[in-house]
Amino acid sequence: MCTSLRQTKIVFTIGPTTSDEAVLTRMIENGVDVCRFNMAHAQHDWFRDTIALVNSCCRKVGRRIALMMDVKGPEIRTRDVPDPIDLLLDELVEFSYQPLDGGLAYTRNIASGVHEIGVNYPGFVADLTVGTTVLVDSGLIRLITEELTEESVLCRVITPGTLGSRRHINLPGVKVKLPALTEKDIADVRVGIEQGIDFFALSFVRESSDLDQLRQLLRDHGSGAHVIAKIEDESGVAHLDQIVQASDGVMVARGDLGIEVPFEQLPIFQRRAVDTCLSLAKPVIIATHMLESMIHSPVPTRAEITDISNSVREQADCVMLSGETTIGKYPERCIDVLNRVIMSVQRAQPGVRNDRLVLKTGKEKMLRAAVDLSEQMSGAGIVVFTRSGDLARLLSAQRPKASPIFAFTDDENVFKRMLMLWGVEPFLMELDEDPEQTIVNAFDYLKRSEWAIAGDPMIVITNVLGKGAKIIDSLQVREIE
Ligand code: PEP
Repeated sequence: MCTSLRQTKIVFTIGPTTSDEAVLTRMIENGVDVCRFNMAHAQHDWFRDTIALVNSCCRKVGRRIALMMDVKGPEIRTRDVPDPIDLLLDELVEFSYQPLDGGLAYTRNIASGVHEIGVNYPGFVADLTVGTTVLVDSGLIRLITEELTEESVLCRVITPGTLGSRRHINLPGVKVKLPALTEKDIADVRVGIEQGIDFFALSFVRESSDLDQLRQLLRDHGSGAHVIAKIEDESGVAHLDQIVQASDGVMVARGDLGIEVPFEQLPIFQRRAVDTCLSLAKPVIIATHMLESMIHSPVPTRAEITDISNSVREQADCVMLSGETTIGKYPERCIDVLNRVIMSVQRAQPGVRNDRLVLKTGKEKMLRAAVDLSEQMSGAGIVVFTRSGDLARLLSAQRPKASPIFAFTDDENVFKRMLMLWGVEPFLMELDEDPEQTIVNAFDYLKRSEWAIAGDPMIVITNVLGKGAKIIDSLQVREIE
């Protein structure tokens, strides 16, 4: 039986180092599953050109990958500065709102020595009080608010650092009044829909209703793309259950989450997010700092290897790379490291079956029987035919220990959405009117693509035609012929 299927999927973020035809082609050949565009840094022209590049590399390789747009959401950032600015201990910084084309976003007051820096959020001052912690650039620079006026806030530097352009600001514990979807996000999503994006990941989802506007926007434009909720602050953690229920999947955005909550709680939240997603049958991505050291180094740290293996053991659907593949020097090696670590852990320590799902319909309940059977038959493959991807998702969520899930669909969008699901290998194939012919075609496909050989046992979830062409759900124990 097939042992080469990598159950944990790989999401990589595309950027300057990977938007190159040769590099991208090799990354696709080496098995990346989802390509993420981080809209905090992408211009629309670059985005369109890069999607065309990804699509052309996929055609060249003969393998499709899914596309994810990471929508910035209610993020506060500093504006562009002409050159990096050194902020020294005890120096004063005055932040004020600056519109996008509001000219220079940095000046140094010669008389007082105060650094005057523009931010992108008009409500910045109104959301703060004296004594609030302001963290800049992933928490590398820490300031504390000392004085507020109507238009600006004066902060003292507690942890010094160098400030570049468009650095992210976190305000731990502050209920920021930014809308869930900003004007820029709406413009980005429209371009994403036009370009056939498969997943929209929304940043800083604080409660389930934050997803409504995005869903509506997708519906209004006839997009069936899936919505991924990024959990990255206290509020997201507090409303985790309702957010998971309202989303099509979750990203544990550890970069921001590790700043917004005490870092020692991060592993606890990560585990809780994975468990919640597993119990509600939603895919979950573990993101950020997976292989951070490999931005500069050709080999990972031992701790990073253990972090990846931890995500595999927790049975997350995907692990995700950010800086490693946008600006890193070794993007292809990072994919190699992920492939090797995931496969090594998966082979040595098969995971635990998830029996917590509430399966409602007869067909859904049959999925549990299929997983049982496949396990009793030492990891027989499970073949499923799906037009929505739901059966594959529900099978995947049960985490069958050693049974690959071969999911056949005739819809390219569904195919791409299934690329994110743990343990699922999707196939795009015409589904014949005659269910038996569809099974024969699927078995041929599996043989041709070397996923199976004659004699391999398969558990098949399919329809059979009963008397008067009545469609009957069935579970069949078959062998590849
Ligand atoms: C994160 O914070 O971990 C994350 C993935 O989000 P972003 O890259 O948008 O900061």
